[in-house]
Amino acid sequence: MTDTLFDKIIRREIPAQIVYEDADLVAFKDIHPAAPVHVLFVPRKSIATVNDLTNDDAALIGKLVLAASAYAKREGFAESGYRVVFNCNADGGQTVYHLHLHLLGGGPLRVGFG
Ligand code: AMP
Repeated sequence: MTDTLFDKIIRREIPAQIVYEDADLVAFKDIHPAAPVHVLFVPRKSIATVNDLTNDDAALIGKLVLAASAYAKREGFAESGYRVVFNCNADGGQTVYHLHLHLLGGGPLRVGFG
């Protein structure tokens, strides 16, 4: 089992600005925000990448997305819009190998990918 930076944040061994948590996930502010609001939704379960998901994780992924949209609604930018992203492996720009969903919003985002 790997022990990543995010495992340490979940265990409160490294500080983070936690904005939400429940039995399945922890959400905290990205330390290098790429948008006015940039929050990471991280399952407590250690899953390295999107490639490592199984059918058993389907509900968990749904919970990450629902937690992100609930946060956007709570913070008042759901209607103006936002982006949710999973980066996967090197070409996808993944740097922390504990699955996480990026929520980016709070203002207009650059259009396009790549
Ligand atoms: P990714 O590149 O998709 O693996 O995303 C990892 C994200 O974690 C990046 O956006 C980093 O800015 C963010 N990050 C790295 N270290 C920390 C930290 N200590 N607290 C909060 N976010 C972090």
